[in-house]
Amino acid sequence: MSTFKAIVITKTEAGQAVRLTDFDDKDLMEGDVTVRVEWSTLNYKDGLALTGKSPVVRRFPMIAGIDLAGTVEASTHPAWKPGDKVVLNGWGLGETHLGAYAQKARVKGEWLVRLPQSMSAREAMAIGTAGYTAMLAVMALERAGIVPARGPVIVTGASGGVGSVAVALLAKLGYSVIASTGRPEEAAYLKGLGAAEIIERTELTGPVRPIAKERWAGGIDSVGSTTLANLLSMTRYGGAVAACGLAGGIDLPGSVAPFILRGVSLLGIDSVMCPMPLRQEAWRRLERDLERGKIAAMISVIGLAEVIEAGARIIAGKVRGRIVVNIG
Ligand code: NDP
Repeated sequence: MSTFKAIVITKTEAGQAVRLTDFDDKDLMEGDVTVRVEWSTLNYKDGLALTGKSPVVRRFPMIAGIDLAGTVEASTHPAWKPGDKVVLNGWGLGETHLGAYAQKARVKGEWLVRLPQSMSAREAMAIGTAGYTAMLAVMALERAGIVPARGPVIVTGASGGVGSVAVALLAKLGYSVIASTGRPEEAAYLKGLGAAEIIERTELTGPVRPIAKERWAGGIDSVGSTTLANLLSMTRYGGAVAACGLAGGIDLPGSVAPFILRGVSLLGIDSVMCPMPLRQEAWRRLERDLERGKIAAMISVIGLAEVIEAGARIIAGKVRGRIVVNIG
């Protein structure tokens, strides 16, 4: 018997349990590539899975973790050979397929992206799904014609993972970034990432008017609910908002007024099933457009043994930037 360390979620009649334990190789799921996982990361969705707060996990037992970076150990897939450095985001990892908080993963070769040449596995996981989603959102704004000359853009949940990377990316690309946060004490951190202005989260949590004073050309929202509805109502004529998160709620209590009176667009962002060409483009852009020094300012590093506790912290909104998990 050959085993490896993993964070395993089980479910019994008493409820969900999660622990760091030994996992047997023979219980790995089908896949044509075996990866030695070196680094992973903690995303909001990982927090939901670890705490059981939302039904993210749809197969038990499950190894948690939606993101991995590592080295191919064995492969029967034509694109991959032992020694290749790879990144995997989503595709049901940690939800329907055994996930990333483990020393080993067996996955489908078609899910893998080659680690960008100038990036380490640790840097890729400092970015993780949160950062790659921020990049997808930036690309969506660009496709909608929201260039820096159109005016300022807002990022909500700015101190979080998606938010931090979005602020850094947009600032580097020349946008004037308004960062919305519920943690005013993080103002210096957000300015360091490139935010031009900080606003209080509560400016976007009041009653939603169909349309309100025009404040920004676009935005990236990781909060949802009233925040997204207010953000849309304050978007300038012809603007666009990329919606990728629900940290504040899954509802959208607004009106169609911004769409039909101001031609505002709502752009949906999904990282999990995102088609491969768009993923590859996002990772190319992250390699080029995200300053490595900014990544360093965003991260804290933990080991596998600390992941379960950190899962509760991210759901409580207490994590700043990105948590990277050293599996190695
Ligand atoms: P984080 O917890 O790191 O960031 C979320 C941030 O939102 C917090 O840091 C906080 O920022 C703010 N926030 C938290 N709770 C509330 C609240 N009740 N009301 C208003 N603001 C709140 O999570 P991630 O950045 O990893 O993920 C952000 C969201 O994006 C999550 O909902 C996640 O599920 C989603 N997501 C979606 C993806 C997709 O494919 N569509 C991929 C990745 C993430 P502050 O303190 O600065 O206000």
